Amino acid sequence: MPVLNRIAGYAAEMKAWRRHLHAHPELGFECHATAAYITERLREIGVDEIHTGIASTGIVAIIDGQGPGPTIGLRADMDALPIEETSGVAHASTVPGRAHSCGHDGHVTMLLGAAKYLAETRRFAGRVALIFQPAEEDGGGGEVMVKEGIMDRFGISQVYGIHNAPNVPFGKFITTPGPIMAAVDTAWVRLRGRGGHGATPHETVDPIIAAVGMIGALQSIVSRNTSAIDSLVISVTQIHSGTASNIIPEEAWFCATIRSFTPAVRDLAERRFRELINGHASAYGVVAELVYERGYPPTVNHAEETEFAASVAREVSGETLVDARADREMGAEDFSYMLEARPGAYLFLGTGPGAGLHHAAFDFNDDAAPVGASFFATLVERAQPLA
Ligand SMILES: [Zn+2]
Ligand SMILES: [Zn+2]
Repeated sequence: MPVLNRIAGYAAEMKAWRRHLHAHPELGFECHATAAYITERLREIGVDEIHTGIASTGIVAIIDGQGPGPTIGLRADMDALPIEETSGVAHASTVPGRAHSCGHDGHVTMLLGAAKYLAETRRFAGRVALIFQPAEEDGGGGEVMVKEGIMDRFGISQVYGIHNAPNVPFGKFITTPGPIMAAVDTAWVRLRGRGGHGATPHETVDPIIAAVGMIGALQSIVSRNTSAIDSLVISVTQIHSGTASNIIPEEAWFCATIRSFTPAVRDLAERRFRELINGHASAYGVVAELVYERGYPPTVNHAEETEFAASVAREVSGETLVDARADREMGAEDFSYMLEARPGAYLFLGTGPGAGLHHAAFDFNDDAAPVGASFFATLVERAQPLA
């Protein structure tokens, strides 16, 4: 793997950073110790400006290159997940019920490694904006940073992000122009009927049978209302009702996640969801309360910037370890808000075999951090070459 020589020299230091972050995971916007640790490292590295307190615990740091030029944004997410780690590694989470099971500790480390290289070498024009973002998993820290104006405030002209990908060959970069990750919406449905004895259902309004009818009907949105060419996922992921085998309950409750790529399919899914819930509610005689919440938009890569990022990835990992026309994924990512604000691209970086993302046994592969750092560093030097 042709990691930049200088960055290969930081590998041990990067591993120490990554393992410290891994042992001290924080959630959502509350990444206070993580932000403090990143700030300390940025001071040691000698970046030119450090702006903290953006989206609560987010940071934007600036490295000045040589001479005038644009500002390129590089983004790493910082937050962990509410999960009990079972990896058994020496640097496992020290916080009960929290773990870096999505590898954002690795993303921060990649960006710090690139920052160290760029601050030492400065072989680029213009400036680099290092974006450390909280609350990717839940809360949309990316949206908050954009709303707080980081793109205009720091004059960012384009923006790039990487996510690690376990069980993809080590060092392989995966991306695609256009939508790469889905929009995610969530629906909560509460049904009120009339409870009673399980032996006399005719004297009740059974919310369970209504819920089952609705959940069955919701499957027809994908199979009967959406073109086979389009992508849509509707998964009912929770259902709760009842207390005993001989009681028909008063209420039932379920929720669903809805994943799509285009505004037209997204709108269709919501419209049909509402029609099916309301139609079935009147048919079954229950009262339905539906809360339908739009979440992260689709993550849409810009064609030109994606091709540019792929060319840099080929430089780092070689022709055979870059797939620039990969299948899109139904997962979601709040880097989408940054790509709505500025052109750029999002890539996955293979980290080899291991537990999957969001698995309790997951641990980021430290060997991948210098690869990601080399990618970011080369991206800057190619995007903003010296005159
Ligand atoms: Zn995640
Ligand atoms: Zn993640």
